Amino acid sequence: MTHTYDLLIVGGGPVGLFTAYFASMRNADVAIIESLPQVGGQANALFPEKEIYDVGGIPKIKAKQLIQQQLTQLNLFKPDIKLNTTVNNIIEQPDGSLVVATNHGDLQTKAVIIAIGTGSFAPRKLNNVYDPALETSGQITYFVKNLADFADQDVMVAGGGDSAVDWALALENVAKSVTIIHRRDQFRGLESSVEKLQNSTVNIMTPYLLNQVTTSADQLEVDLKKVKTETHQTLTVDKLLINYGFVADSRLLRQWQLDLAGTKIKVNTKMETNRPRIYAVGDAVTYPGKLDLIAVGYAEAPIAVTTALQTIYPEKIQPLHSTSLFN
Ligand SMILES: Cc1cc2nc3c(=O)[nH]c(=O)nc-3n(C[C@H](O)[C@H](O)[C@H](O)COP(=O)(O)OP(=O)(O)OC[C@H]3O[C@@H](n4cnc5c(N)ncnc54)[C@H](O)[C@@H]3O)c2cc1C
Repeated sequence: MTHTYDLLIVGGGPVGLFTAYFASMRNADVAIIESLPQVGGQANALFPEKEIYDVGGIPKIKAKQLIQQQLTQLNLFKPDIKLNTTVNNIIEQPDGSLVVATNHGDLQTKAVIIAIGTGSFAPRKLNNVYDPALETSGQITYFVKNLADFADQDVMVAGGGDSAVDWALALENVAKSVTIIHRRDQFRGLESSVEKLQNSTVNIMTPYLLNQVTTSADQLEVDLKKVKTETHQTLTVDKLLINYGFVADSRLLRQWQLDLAGTKIKVNTKMETNRPRIYAVGDAVTYPGKLDLIAVGYAEAPIAVTTALQTIYPEKIQPLHSTSLFN
C-alpha cells in the first residue's frame, strides 16, 4: 500500500461522479470506487433511456446522456476510476487516515465520501405469475436498455410511479401501442407527467392487478383482475415492462459502524456521518427534508468535499462562492 488519496469516493453514480469532479476542481487527489462494471449508478443501470427534466439548466436529457456529460466533465481531471470494485469496509488508522477494504485489496485515504445510493439495487420482481423464461426471451422486462427494442410492438407497462408513467410516455412515440395498468386510480408520478399521460394516446387501465401471464403464438396473454372485484380481462401484447420499484441490498453498509435511519446514513448539514473523516452524499443519506433527487445530491457534493478538505487540510483557504478552472 503506497499511495494515500486525499478522498476516496465510494460509488460512481451521478452524485459520486459530481463529487469527484468538484473535489478535482479543488485539486484533491481523488478516486472513485464503483462496484458495477460501469459508472452512472441508477441512471445508467436502471433508466438509461428515461428523460430527466429536473436538473437545473438542462431542460431535458436522457439519463445516459447526463452520465456521459458528467464523464466528459470529469475527464478534465481524469481521476482514478476503479470499476468492478466493491468497498467492503472502512477502517480507521491510528494516524486518523482510513483504509478502504475492497474485493481487490486495500486503499489508503485521508477521507472518504460515501455515495453508494441505495446500495446494490435490483428491481422488485413479480413472482409466480409468469414463466421466468419470458424474462430470458426479453418479452417481460424490468429495464429499458434501448427504446428501439420496443419499436412497433404492443407494449404493456405495469406500475403507477414516476418511472412507469415516464416509460409509458417515452414509449408512446416508439411502440405500436402502449397500455399502462395500475392497481390504483391515482398515479404517483409528477403532476405534469400524469397530466401528459392523461392527454396521451396511452391506454390507461386502473385499478387492475396483473394476475397471470401466459403465451399464445409468441405473444403475451396478460390476465388482469379488476381490484376488489372478480372481473377479469385479457390483453394480448408483445412486451410487458414491469415497474414496481426497486429493492436495495444495504447489508454491506450495516457493517460500517455508521449511524443509520433504516437503510440511509444519517448526516448533518455538513454531510458528516458519525465517523470521523467519513462523509456521505446522494441517495445514501438522510436528514430532515432530504429528497432522493440528482439535483439534491449535486448540491450535497460541494458541501461534503469542502467539509472533508477543511478537515484534512485546515490550513487551506476554502472557496467562497465561485469556481475558476483555468487561472
Ligand atoms: C426509475 C428511476 C427514475 C428516476 N428518475 C429521476 C429523475 O427523473 N430525476 C432525478 O433527479 N432523479 C431520478 N431518480 C433518482 C436518481 O436516480 C437518484 O437520486 C440518483 O441516482 C442518486 O445518485 P447516487 O449517485 O446518490 O446513487 P446511485 O445512482 O444509486 O449510485 C450509487 C452507486 O454506488 C455503487 N455502489 C453501491 N454500493 C457500493 C459499494 N459497496 N462499493 C462500490 N460501489 C458501490 C452502485 O453500484 C451505484 O453505481 C430516479 C430513480 C429511479 C430508480
